[in-house]
Amino acid sequence: MTNILRQFSFELPTRIEYGVGVASKLGEEVRLLKAQKVSLITDPGIIKAGLLDKITSILKEEKLLYNVFDGVDPNPKDRNVERGAQVVRSFEADAMVAVGGGSVIDCAKAIGVLVSHDGKRIKDFEGKTAVKKPILPFIAVPTTAGTGSEVTFSAVITDRENNYKMTVRSPFMAAKVALLDPKLTVTVPPHITASTGMDALTHAIEAYTVKVSEPISDALALYAIELITNNLVNAVKNGENINARACMLVGSLLAGMAFSHSDVGSVHCMAEALGGVYDAPHGVCNAVLLPYVMEYNAEFCLERYARIAQAMGEIFDTMEEGAMKAVERVKKLSVDVGLPSFKSLGVKEEDLEKLADMAAKNISTKSNPREMSKEDYLVLFKKALAD
Ligand code: NAD
Repeated sequence: MTNILRQFSFELPTRIEYGVGVASKLGEEVRLLKAQKVSLITDPGIIKAGLLDKITSILKEEKLLYNVFDGVDPNPKDRNVERGAQVVRSFEADAMVAVGGGSVIDCAKAIGVLVSHDGKRIKDFEGKTAVKKPILPFIAVPTTAGTGSEVTFSAVITDRENNYKMTVRSPFMAAKVALLDPKLTVTVPPHITASTGMDALTHAIEAYTVKVSEPISDALALYAIELITNNLVNAVKNGENINARACMLVGSLLAGMAFSHSDVGSVHCMAEALGGVYDAPHGVCNAVLLPYVMEYNAEFCLERYARIAQAMGEIFDTMEEGAMKAVERVKKLSVDVGLPSFKSLGVKEEDLEKLADMAAKNISTKSNPREMSKEDYLVLFKKALAD
């Protein structure tokens, strides 16, 4: 039975501008921020795909002054943030534009933290309480449909010394504006479309099933699940299909809004450990682990899994059957879009204990619908490696 007695709050400081071709409004948006000098934050893949040229030509037309920092690695590292902050400071930028996937947007957020707090090491800002004031304002222009980072309050940065992904989180880190243009995602290669799409699906499924879910995030998550399940295969196989790309970008946006107001669960705890130790793509880590965690959680959230199956268009008679169908559909989707297995990531047996320990210490472990100990994580990692 639905129970809406628990208190919740919902805050979205980011204005969302969505549309095919909406990136052309970037100059106007920079002017609205009253910025004179803008630092563009991006990565080499975006330059190679020809997207940065499109963005700089818009800024040139508007006669805006800009510089470029393109030193963001996938799974951005603390050193990327610290170098980026030097580049932004030396230009005396009064705003940033982040053009890229979650790695670029997260790096821009973290750079903004260092610049506004006169900080040197991003590690000093780890957690939920260290960011004390608004960061350097920025516009997020996502080019992947996966992380939802354009509307979340966090940045995930790899601490190279300890090989783990730390989170810096505060509503002060939200983008001023998210410009979502499906055209910018057309160049994403199929394997990245697949893994980022599964990342978005994981956000939606976990946001809907964690202990701290609430009605607004539930509504966002269910529609995200529908959009993503119905469009991911098409976006992977027919990358030029602008409608499939549009559905994925909106699905990822809604999933990002959902999990940032609810939480993620054990899939993310395991995936972040894996990404920190092996530097593997975040979406792939989520995708390979999602079915294992879903199977493990199923009996603790039968009703919600059945509702997920319904959003996926599955037909069933009992809740048990529905929950099973949701898990099977996720497995099939991974196969249909050609995602690799956990084993193929080259994970070593001797690292499993360390990975389980890192997952158990992740702050989102307590949100998972089923209690998870280090031993439980170890069982799941071992199962995934044995398959
Ligand atoms: P990504 O940003 O690392 O990009 C992957 C690759 O795709 C890069 O090489 C990039 O250059 C390329 N690429 C991006 N857009 C392209 C385009 N349009 N055309 C061609 N190539 C393109 O991948 P991601 O999955 O978007 O981001 C992953 C990062 O985001 C991880 O570090 C993860 O931990 C983090 N993350 C953050 C949040 C959050 O709320 N802040 C949520 C989930 C994940």
